[in-house]
Amino acid sequence: MAHEVTLIPGDGTGPELVEATRRVLEATGVEFDWDEQPAGEDVYEEEGTPFPDRTLDSIKRNGVGIKGPTTTPVGSGFRSVNVLLRKELDLFACIRPCKAYEGVRTRFPETDIVIVRENTEDLYAGIEFEEGSEENAKLRHELEELGEHVRDDAGISVKPISRFGSERIVEEAFSYAKANGRKKVTAAHKANIMKFTDGLFLEVAREVAKRHEDIEFEDRIIDNLCNQLVSRPEEYDVIVLPNLYGDIVSDLGAGMIGGLGLAPGGNIGTEAAMFEATHGSAPKYKGQNKVNPAALMLSGVLMLRHINEDDSADRMEKAIAEVIRKGEKVTYDLKPSRDDPSAVGTSQFADAVIEEMNQ
Ligand code: NAD
Repeated sequence: MAHEVTLIPGDGTGPELVEATRRVLEATGVEFDWDEQPAGEDVYEEEGTPFPDRTLDSIKRNGVGIKGPTTTPVGSGFRSVNVLLRKELDLFACIRPCKAYEGVRTRFPETDIVIVRENTEDLYAGIEFEEGSEENAKLRHELEELGEHVRDDAGISVKPISRFGSERIVEEAFSYAKANGRKKVTAAHKANIMKFTDGLFLEVAREVAKRHEDIEFEDRIIDNLCNQLVSRPEEYDVIVLPNLYGDIVSDLGAGMIGGLGLAPGGNIGTEAAMFEATHGSAPKYKGQNKVNPAALMLSGVLMLRHINEDDSADRMEKAIAEVIRKGEKVTYDLKPSRDDPSAVGTSQFADAVIEEMNQ
């Protein structure tokens, strides 16, 4: 039976990337019943919302979606579609595999890690008190009563990390490790300094690890982890982190594998899962058939695994890896120089992957 999947082209270069990815996903032989829905800047201009209810309903109904990037104009007044999606669907886990494929220019060719980032808590929870505001003064007063002095010209952000949030993200890291043949989970934190937030995350991670003794577990202080990732990347496998560290280490990982054009992602929640590349809408290249669709295609590979189409996922990943390894029919960002005239476009990269799969 065909898989019902919500397909969101997004805006900027999104529609081109989604079209290339859709073609490759269909070429695997897996049957899809696409439910195409809008999100982002274009629909905002037409309907006054970047994220219409029908798009949210479709994802809730289908439980799985794949999305092109969407622009968040600075100062436009509309909230990021990605933040809305995460909140509405409680997409609590962001999974970002960072694998250095052969043929990519990188100083870290051994990199093959998976970052599992908590998506809902931590300093990104949005609990902030502006310098000079009444709420800020109230909070500082309460803190004074508790014996904590904060300078009166300070802005304040609150960092909540719960037992509940920590448990489900670490469980997700172990279940991802098991489902994908991974051997080790590393929890990263700064528990030596933030004892009641990162300390709680670490305590819960250790408890969860005891339930999964078939997978090795270790922890690292976040600064040490960053140091070791760039000196001994081969020692790391699945890494689970609270939101802020996860955000930063995801970009570090993308850099280590050769750039944003190759970094896929999946946001997993209790009700639904949404797959999308790490990069944004690269609006300056809109409509030019230029940018690299590999990150979104690899997000499609993650989606295939999520819907239990593992054989097709393996074939699709292998074909993408082969096109990258050969280095001929690849986009400008994967060529030795950015103005290399032999670079192909988004759509021709997709043709090359399909050709490779059909061999
Ligand atoms: P970006 O990722 O869109 O682009 C930065 C640069 O990276 C580009 O100019 C390009 O040189 C390169 N790049 C990005 N994707 C590429 C690809 N597939 N192939 C080759 N090169 C690629 O980041 P930005 O310019 O900071 O953001 C643009 C817009 O995207 C903003 O409005 C931002 O809010 C939004 N954004 C959306 C998402 C999302 O939808 N998930 C994620 C990040 C940013």
